[in-house]
Amino acid sequence: MTIAAPAEPALGGRLGAIIRRATELYEDLDFKSVLDWKAKDKTRRAIGFLPVYVPREVIHAAGGLPVGIMGGGDMTEIVRGDSYFQSYICHLPRSVIELAVSGRLDAMDGFLFPSICDVIRNLSGMFKLLKPDKYVHYFDLPQNFRAGLGGKFYAHEMRSVAQAVAKMTGSEVTDDRLRESITVYNANRRAIAALLELRIEKPWLIPATEYYLMLRAGYLLPADEHTALVNEYTLMVQQSNRRPLDNIRVMVRGAFCEQPPLALLRTLERAGCYLVDDDFVVGSRFIPDPIKAEGDPWEALAEAFMQRSLPTASVYDEKHQKGDLLVRRVKDVRADGVLLMAPSFCDPALLDQPMLQSALEEAGIPFTSFKYSEDTGQFQVIREQAGTFADAIKLWGTA
Ligand code: SF4
Repeated sequence: MTIAAPAEPALGGRLGAIIRRATELYEDLDFKSVLDWKAKDKTRRAIGFLPVYVPREVIHAAGGLPVGIMGGGDMTEIVRGDSYFQSYICHLPRSVIELAVSGRLDAMDGFLFPSICDVIRNLSGMFKLLKPDKYVHYFDLPQNFRAGLGGKFYAHEMRSVAQAVAKMTGSEVTDDRLRESITVYNANRRAIAALLELRIEKPWLIPATEYYLMLRAGYLLPADEHTALVNEYTLMVQQSNRRPLDNIRVMVRGAFCEQPPLALLRTLERAGCYLVDDDFVVGSRFIPDPIKAEGDPWEALAEAFMQRSLPTASVYDEKHQKGDLLVRRVKDVRADGVLLMAPSFCDPALLDQPMLQSALEEAGIPFTSFKYSEDTGQFQVIREQAGTFADAIKLWGTA
């Protein structure tokens, strides 16, 4: 029997309209919004990117639309996707293949596969075979963070993407255009940062599902449209009369690639946990602070990635400070505990977990861990686990 979390009550007014728009985008597995965008100008091209991070500014500067491909979630039945992969890997690549072979990714003119794990690497090889007429690029991110070495390599990699997209759109990526795109995405970073800040301060104003939908909308909409949507949402919820609940404050780590279903987020909140910090849809805030929009824009993007990205499992932890940064972040957002929730069979997330657990144990921070998949439909066990975690913290301050 499937025990699903009850749906949020429908909202009216402008706030309701914003949520409905974001929900439509989330459910748009045919990428109709991308087709609509392309229909407005025949030179427009859409470039799909897989989790976790690509410098979207480069695609934008070439006149392209960067589109986040996050799998089929719990809305896709896997028919052919399973035959491409062995059974003991995560779910995301199966649903991405399913979307591809069923023609639902046809709106894309190219695909970028950032170097995060072997699964994504293999997926890029399959796309080369499945989509020989499209631009398919395995986007190698630097593992060496010295400007003269990793920085140069990364700038070269970005320029190769810029040239490929420019060839499709006919818009060359000049330094000026790239600086303008950095400025556009800096505005988007600020909008997301304000949303995050409000959720840390008053999590009851921003239910986890709404927050998530706002982030996901950024993977489909042009950056300036998304910025306007998030800014309006942030303003509207502050005028709402939502009241605080007796929930604990938790931080989520491990969900940076394959995404949890919306119902799982709702379940966690209903179980008594406000999610005040997380790594969902993290590619849109991978570099949380504004990037320098003066000087050499390639260097600025490279420096930002190498020195200021969020500490996720997909970035080499050169200074071995991931545990310390996690503990510091727990304190900054005043989290009562941490949910280590990872996709089943996700090597990067699960290999990181022991290190994160040790840091939390040492700092005396309560945590609990569980696994999910993008199409998880059974929530009872997780609801009980999260509910017990929340109750234990409320009663004894620890779990
Ligand atoms: S969920 Fe984990 S293992 Fe699967 S593609 Fe993403 S990072 Fe790789």
